[in-house]
Amino acid sequence: MSAALIDGKAFAEGLRQKIAKFAGEFEAKAGRKAGLAVVLVGEDPASQVYVRSKGKATLAAGMNSLEYKMPADSTEEALIAKVKELNADPAVDGILVQLPLPKGLDEQAVISTIDPDKDVDGFHIINAGRLSVGQKGFVPCTPLGCLMLLKDRLGDLSGKDAVVIGRSNIVGKPMAQLLTDANATVTIAHSRTANLPEVVKRADIVVAAVGRPEMVKGDWIKPGATVIDVGINRVDGEDGKTKLVGDVDFDSAREVAGAITPVPGGVGPMTIAVLLRNALVSAYRRENIALDEDAL
Ligand code: NDP
Repeated sequence: MSAALIDGKAFAEGLRQKIAKFAGEFEAKAGRKAGLAVVLVGEDPASQVYVRSKGKATLAAGMNSLEYKMPADSTEEALIAKVKELNADPAVDGILVQLPLPKGLDEQAVISTIDPDKDVDGFHIINAGRLSVGQKGFVPCTPLGCLMLLKDRLGDLSGKDAVVIGRSNIVGKPMAQLLTDANATVTIAHSRTANLPEVVKRADIVVAAVGRPEMVKGDWIKPGATVIDVGINRVDGEDGKTKLVGDVDFDSAREVAGAITPVPGGVGPMTIAVLLRNALVSAYRRENIALDEDAL
């Protein structure tokens, strides 16, 4: 059996079209465009690529993109001052500080400065708290994108056994929380988990967010399970060029799984689409304009 492919690229494209429609309605009602500000400190090449594609996607969705580039030797005070300026700017609905920050800058201190109601990455401790007690806030983009793919594929997740491999604050933990809220029975696995293959084998849903190339093998997977591969790992291909692989050994897993996300083209495209969604939701909330957030 070969698993169905979960096409995150197509799903993200559909989501972006919906966002563009709602962004147009927002502009008509609020008399201004929704605005997403991105702050990039330093010259990290991968971060530059991410920031550029976020900016392009924001504009394509009919929203304002504000980019602030600061030198790598910026002080924490200067960065915090910039964040405070954006907090106070009424045209800014979402603020994202591109991570990682250059050495010497305290990420937690900077993120804690972002107004939680503009924290569209969902990394502020207030938003982590809101998620854990079931209050409305912002949920980190990657796990929310994974949940959307799962619901699209499986519908109701009630009673499903889910295993999340990885317990980071930005992927694993919020993913486990979202699955719990969706009434799945959730196990969080990590580097100290005993008998990981056996733990994974119980799961109807596997979310791998580990950062280890092709670690999860096909014979760990329960036949028919749905596999969401969050991993993005650059490895040397046989042709000598680097290629992207996930945390799941795609070739063996697709023989067993019921459905699986490819890498690239699975979870990756969802992250930016959900970022735009969160920024637009923020704009509607800040202007007190009604929006069915579940429709987005
Ligand atoms: P972190 O490094 O923060 O967390 C990795 C987690 O994996 C940790 O909880 C760690 O356990 C666990 N882990 C490490 N080794 C093993 C092992 N051998 N067995 C079981 N668990 C293990 O990574 P992130 O959560 O930030 O990212 C995970 C992956 O997702 C990366 O490949 C990253 O590139 C990708 N990613 C993709 C995104 C996208 O847009 N698609 C966005 C964000 C991340 P412990 O806690 O015990 O150390």
